[in-house]
Amino acid sequence: MIYAANFKTNHTRKSTAEYIASLSDKIATKNDEDKVYIFPPATALDSYVGDFTIGTQNAYPAQNGAFTGEIGLDQLEEFDIQTILIGHSERREHMAESQEKVAQKFAFFKEQNFEIIYCIGEPLHVREEGFDAVMDYLLAQFDGIDISYEKVIVAYEPIWAIGTGRSATVEEISSTHLALKKAINNKPLLYGGSAKPANIKEISAIDGVDGVLVGSASLDAESFSQMILS
Ligand code: PEP
Repeated sequence: MIYAANFKTNHTRKSTAEYIASLSDKIATKNDEDKVYIFPPATALDSYVGDFTIGTQNAYPAQNGAFTGEIGLDQLEEFDIQTILIGHSERREHMAESQEKVAQKFAFFKEQNFEIIYCIGEPLHVREEGFDAVMDYLLAQFDGIDISYEKVIVAYEPIWAIGTGRSATVEEISSTHLALKKAINNKPLLYGGSAKPANIKEISAIDGVDGVLVGSASLDAESFSQMILS
């Protein structure tokens, strides 16, 4: 299983270092085949050492340059960061990242040989229209994306389940993952949306779920470690 922690705009440089020290202790006995990713805020990127991969939640598709407020490859290379989240619904919505922009970013970081966790997900009104509408919406989020790229991991995150405490049901996750797995040639597929210690066993047992992308329940090292060790 893959366990990925997305801190979003939470944690400082100091609290991230404390978190990583604490998490490392707690997961010392994790299964070797389980992989842990941590996506701290950009200000907390650093050269941490341990049995986990540090990724960036975002970056501008450039080596460096006049892109106020953004970070580029120079800033990532300083800490040997080679993993990025692309297409998260919060960036699509709040930062108005269009599919075209998301695809440009994907192409750039693919060219740099980054590992890419590529996020897709539908809003509630689409889910309410039924399964075919959901799949049409999700498949459109692969426009311009080279899904054959060997270092891509897809994260299916229904927007209505993110940060709401309401996870998708086993049946919703199961049917969506089954269809997505076919569309993405069996690439690793994570589920995201209110995954937490209380539901991790149920979610990880679903066919086609290769891991979880976790927001709220990853912010506390104890809670995230419980998920990893479950
Ligand atoms: C996310 O935003 O990637 C996420 C899954 O958040 P949460 O776990 O809080 O729903």
